[in-house]
Amino acid sequence: MFANRPRPTEADVLQALKGVQDPDLHRDLVDLGMIKDIRIHDRTISLTVNLTTPACPLKGKIEADVRNALTSRLGADFHYQIHMAAEVRGKGITEKGDIPGVKNVIAVGSGKGGVGKSTMAAAIAYGLHAHGATVGLMDADVYGPSIPHLVGAGGRPMARGDRIQPIERDGLRLMSMGFLLEPERAVVMRGPMLHGIVQQFLHQVDWGTLDYLVIDLPPGTGDVPLTLAQTLPLTGAVIVCTPQEVALLDATRALSMFRQLKVPILGMIENMSGFDVAAYLAEHGSPAARQLAASGRLFDDPADALVPIFGTGGARRTAERLGVPFLGEIPLNVSLRERGDQGRLASAFSPDSPSRAPLMAMVEALAAQISIQNLKARKMPKLEIIG
Ligand code: ADP
Repeated sequence: MFANRPRPTEADVLQALKGVQDPDLHRDLVDLGMIKDIRIHDRTISLTVNLTTPACPLKGKIEADVRNALTSRLGADFHYQIHMAAEVRGKGITEKGDIPGVKNVIAVGSGKGGVGKSTMAAAIAYGLHAHGATVGLMDADVYGPSIPHLVGAGGRPMARGDRIQPIERDGLRLMSMGFLLEPERAVVMRGPMLHGIVQQFLHQVDWGTLDYLVIDLPPGTGDVPLTLAQTLPLTGAVIVCTPQEVALLDATRALSMFRQLKVPILGMIENMSGFDVAAYLAEHGSPAARQLAASGRLFDDPADALVPIFGTGGARRTAERLGVPFLGEIPLNVSLRERGDQGRLASAFSPDSPSRAPLMAMVEALAAQISIQNLKARKMPKLEIIG
């Protein structure tokens, strides 16, 4: 029977995939141009699904959907080889202030200091890099540059011609005021000088080709986010907050500022969202406590292991109320603080790190929102650029 059936063509393969959607983008993979390199050889049909981010949280589902569609429409007689690849896309239109070669610029802000904004900014950069993206991390927290310390980077950026070379560490390209000052020296600067520094960091640093440039903003609603929003079209902003009401109020103000500046909101992260007692005991407890924690018998329900020191769920509710995506909850974890203090934040993604899973889930949720935002920007070119 098979011998009489005409061999499918490339067009047949594309037709068979009609209706298979990217679950985040709610659009056909075929229409999005994600199906590439279709090859038909004897009984083998191979193709590549080129996702819009390597950190796609639904990679497995998309692969299964493609396989099911091919099997049900072209038959089970063929051997299907599906390669999952990714090419990060930007917004697809060039606007005033864009940094050539940099596809996405993501600002990480917070309502106030001490909520873990710098830690989350660095974690976003590491998480995207762990998925294979090329990533830069710019510390725009000029008054309190903590990125060099968190990631254990030092040295002076060198100038090459009129371009400043970023410092490279763990595969990230970095720039921070911290590289330009003595460690304990305070930054005393007025608005116009800040403006100049942010401009230089954006446009004079040789970022090269980047999928994502993550920017750690100073806390609050001051000059730097304003300068940033006026200088270049940001892909969007992420707001980091802790769960208690007072913190959420500040976060809501930060969000309102980005909305006024017409910066898309990519989502909110709830950090310090409960203290995971089981994870703590497993790492720091006595041998007996470690054993008990590892046995899983310490708590009937794993959710009971989370002590809600600052409460939990406040940011999720706030995000829902304000109609912005919620990107995830990161529990308080002693080893995350230790890794940051020791300049080893990259190790928060090592397999033994209890923070790895929640951080990775947050990074993937963000990567999906960036792709969604780019699709929206493509459909709706901005009519107005502030400045
Ligand atoms: P911000 O940039 O908002 O001022 P930081 O990222 O510098 O905050 O974090 C403040 C302190 O809190 C740092 O010591 C950091 O290691 C710690 N920290 C951040 N997030 C967590 C967390 N989820 N668990 C434990 N400590 C954390």
